[in-house]
Amino acid sequence: MKDYEVVIGLEVHVELATKTKIFCGCSTAFGGAPNTHTCPVCTGMPGSLPVLNKKVVEYAMAVGLATNCSITRDCKFDRKNYFYPDNPQNYQISQLYLPICYDGAVEIETSAGKKTVRIHEMHMEEDAGKLIHDEWEDCSLVDYNRSGVPLIEIVSEPDMRSADEVIAYLEKLRMICQYLGASDCKLQEGSMRADVNLSVREVGASEFGTRTEMKNLNSFKAIARAIEGERERQIELLEEGRAVVQETRRWDDNKESSHAMRSKEDAKDYRYFPDPDLPPIHISDAWIEELRASIPELREAKMERYQKEYELPAYDAGILTESRHLAGLF
Ligand code: ADP
Ligand code: MG
Ligand code: ZN
Repeated sequence: MKDYEVVIGLEVHVELATKTKIFCGCSTAFGGAPNTHTCPVCTGMPGSLPVLNKKVVEYAMAVGLATNCSITRDCKFDRKNYFYPDNPQNYQISQLYLPICYDGAVEIETSAGKKTVRIHEMHMEEDAGKLIHDEWEDCSLVDYNRSGVPLIEIVSEPDMRSADEVIAYLEKLRMICQYLGASDCKLQEGSMRADVNLSVREVGASEFGTRTEMKNLNSFKAIARAIEGERERQIELLEEGRAVVQETRRWDDNKESSHAMRSKEDAKDYRYFPDPDLPPIHISDAWIEELRASIPELREAKMERYQKEYELPAYDAGILTESRHLAGLF
């Protein structure tokens, strides 16, 4: 068998910790009786109009600044059109043409030392509702409490080469968002979700192979298993002289295997166009500087300072900075 290398890029969705939704005043609290945190805006009633929550822009900018992104001074929202019952407007308000942040990078620790993972862009969008498939009653129910909860989607470059690097990158993003208070990043509750884009290529090849995208990964363990499973599946195809098909696959963590969900759609399939209900956002230098000044000392800086200032061993400094709350108590 030839030597293969795995290439991975992630699309990470993070629910922001605002009290209210992105375009209306409904609560973002997790749980709650179905359809109690809803109004005409987040249930897509005709004639209702969205009003942007300023705090969403501020959290997005803070995460962007903390991940070394550039900020788009004039950004706007676009409509991503698709029909699905959890999406009552039949479009999702997102950003395609002018995402709020771009060209960032974070440093991760790997077994081979430090490594940089580049961030292609970060955009703001609204979450969809939740479908509950009732097998006993043979029907599906929909809960719009999550509809309109603010998200940022962080899109990396295909810079990761193993499951360990992927986990280190996710942990890094989680730590940053938690320190900023921008999100609690709970994978089990879905406030952090990762789609894994993966391809394989022969070691030394200069071009990337065809990738698949895996969804439905709600723990670090599931992510690691899905990466291993998909790597093996693709290598097997290539070894048999067959082609990898670009598609979206759903990982079933119980069966430890994935199956094709749909062929990969392109941006053009969604008929994106600028949302006419929302004015463009202008971000001034002063606003950016205000946010930059509000960013707390992040974990790495704190760890380093604890070791220098208090002469703590690296291990202790690591434990004490695992959460901002614990560091605060210390
Ligand atoms: P789309 O918009 O169609 O989802 P993008 O080009 O924006 O596609 O890429 C989405 C994600 O896929 C990014 O995180 C990127 O790093 C990753 N990616 C792109 N090409 C590859 C590849 N050949 N192998 C692995 N990951 C890839
Ligand atoms: Mg995508
Ligand atoms: Zn609402």
